[in-house]
Amino acid sequence: MKNWIFVILAAVALLAGCDSPKKQEVPIYVWSGIGPNTNMDQLQADFRDWKSKGVVGVCLNNNNPEIVAEAAKRAHAEGLEYHAWIPCMVRGGLPHEWYAVNRLGQKADEFPVYVDYYKALDPRNSEVHEFFRKEMAEIAAIPEVDYVQLDYIRYPDVILARGLWDKYGLVMNEEYAPADYCYCPDCVAAFKEQTGIDILAVEDPSKVAEWAKFRCDAVTDLVNDIADAVHAQGKKLSADVFPGPDSYAVGMVRQQWNEWDVDMFFPMNYNDFYLEGPEWLRTVVDEEVKSVGGKAPVISGLFICREWQRKASIEDPEGHGLIPSEIEEAVRGSLESGATGICLFTPGDMTPEHWEALEKTLK
Ligand SMILES: [Zn+2]
Repeated sequence: MKNWIFVILAAVALLAGCDSPKKQEVPIYVWSGIGPNTNMDQLQADFRDWKSKGVVGVCLNNNNPEIVAEAAKRAHAEGLEYHAWIPCMVRGGLPHEWYAVNRLGQKADEFPVYVDYYKALDPRNSEVHEFFRKEMAEIAAIPEVDYVQLDYIRYPDVILARGLWDKYGLVMNEEYAPADYCYCPDCVAAFKEQTGIDILAVEDPSKVAEWAKFRCDAVTDLVNDIADAVHAQGKKLSADVFPGPDSYAVGMVRQQWNEWDVDMFFPMNYNDFYLEGPEWLRTVVDEEVKSVGGKAPVISGLFICREWQRKASIEDPEGHGLIPSEIEEAVRGSLESGATGICLFTPGDMTPEHWEALEKTLK
């Protein structure tokens, strides 16, 4: 009798074992958009489809509490983690006093740099802090929201990614004055009090290391302030950041993100933006994981090229990204350098060939 039980247990164990190689070990996340016109039933069908391909969590771009609540409920119904992805510092329609001032003395709501929507807020403004604490706490309070995810949590790009120079007709071998913030009276006075340096009297402010650090700290302080508000709701905070941080994020957008009190990092390791190949992921993720030092998982963000068959003829680098034959190197490099998982920008751009390459890699 005992033997029979043993045989049955062994058979069950064997069957369970047969099943395990199919199980997805590597967490896959996706970034996707939703709006007031999104069909929630279709969205839930997409969730189910992504889940069947190994996706464990969705990051959806919306800050309307009603839409977030419904989408998050649908995500949980499909067994997915929900990150409420919210662009922060580039936002129109807020009080004029909240906007940052560039090195030329122009306010970002009236003279946005690069593109019309680059209306950048001043991360040192106390009312800006209060605004985000309140907004993020409200989103975090939605029952099915697992993480609030900060995006555009930075100053404008004082140096653009190398792959974007041609698009904007710029050569950016040094900091670009129209994109260099914030020179409002408050920031200038606070910096002088802290360091004794009058930044307005300095010929080339980009050479003042303390001034760069001062602005990195301003972003860090804002993030940590928001983190307190989100954690107070019993929820977690994730953040979409530039690669590095030292090799790109700090110098380009003043994100010293390894100092942030964040529970999951999503560096946007978009190699094509930096005119790099998929082999670059291994190096940059190695830096990212070491910088964070194990205090939070690093999810490697991958930019997918939808029209990959005609990538060579696409001029705009924002239409580039990984083609199916590059997936293996990008994913393997990320994971072998210590990334906990990957995040796809976007699942809608993943062709059947991309999914096939990803599945093969993860096996
Ligand atoms: Zn300021």
